[in-house]
Amino acid sequence: MTLNPPNHTVVESSVGPPRLASLSPSRASDFKQCPYMYKLRSVDRIPTEPTVYQARGTTAHLALERLFQLARDERTPERLYDLFREAWTELRTTEYPGLFDDVDEERKWGLESLKLLADYFTVEDPTSFDPDGLEQDLSVAIGEMTIRGILDRRETLRETGPDGSEREVIVITDYKTGKAPPERYATKAFFALKIYALLLRVEEGITVDRLRLLYLNGPTEYQLDVNDAQLDAMEAQLTALWSAINTAFETQQWRTKRSVLCDWCDFKDTLCPEFVDADTIAKNHADAMERIRSAQDEQTEMPAS
Ligand code: SF4
Repeated sequence: MTLNPPNHTVVESSVGPPRLASLSPSRASDFKQCPYMYKLRSVDRIPTEPTVYQARGTTAHLALERLFQLARDERTPERLYDLFREAWTELRTTEYPGLFDDVDEERKWGLESLKLLADYFTVEDPTSFDPDGLEQDLSVAIGEMTIRGILDRRETLRETGPDGSEREVIVITDYKTGKAPPERYATKAFFALKIYALLLRVEEGITVDRLRLLYLNGPTEYQLDVNDAQLDAMEAQLTALWSAINTAFETQQWRTKRSVLCDWCDFKDTLCPEFVDADTIAKNHADAMERIRSAQDEQTEMPAS
């Protein structure tokens, strides 16, 4: 059982209605997709079972981060496979205990994961550049908002512009281990990266030129060039979202928003009033709260190391 990370959304518990204290790009995306899902995940913190896909994503991110910490000539496929195996050895008992029923299932998952990493080398050559930042932890105040998140990677590339002149281009990249959405839906997938570009502009005074989504499963790469006007629009959208979340806290109205994405929602078959009757929801919610209390009690009883 995984308790959702407490620091993605922090609510101040002072006198009066609770207020949002910080927001991450992924939780902002949750609210945009469905306010009720946001409430279940970030306010109630309903535990969700970790999946093999999450395990692959976490492990691959760690391996890729470490790959770029090596000298360029060491960034080979074999080294990346080793880094993946090392990262999984670290994570399997701490983050994902009991994820697989047996060794064969785990081995199959491992081989599929290595195939994705092999495909990574067909999308880019990691020996051809050095990132300016890896897993950059950002916590930035914008107006009354505080936005927090971790950016996968950032680099400055040299390329030839349309007029034939050389120029530097600042690129930020987000790795995805799932399959890419069809191209007509890709624009929505850039939502979090646009927020990161905005954070870098506020924090460091730089304007990112290009956003890049790198889907290892495929593999597929989507790119989107951005400018200050688009980041201004993102700031306005984020401000509106921040305000809408605070209104939801004040009124305790968290509306459901059905979409094709419901099929991937952790709560569809257990806690969503769009799909489940009220009595079942009440029972499932009470059970989840009991599991949270038990997990917290276990943590409290653990001796300090
Ligand atoms: S199933 Fe759909 S409507 Fe229900 S909580 Fe999840 S995203 Fe929202």
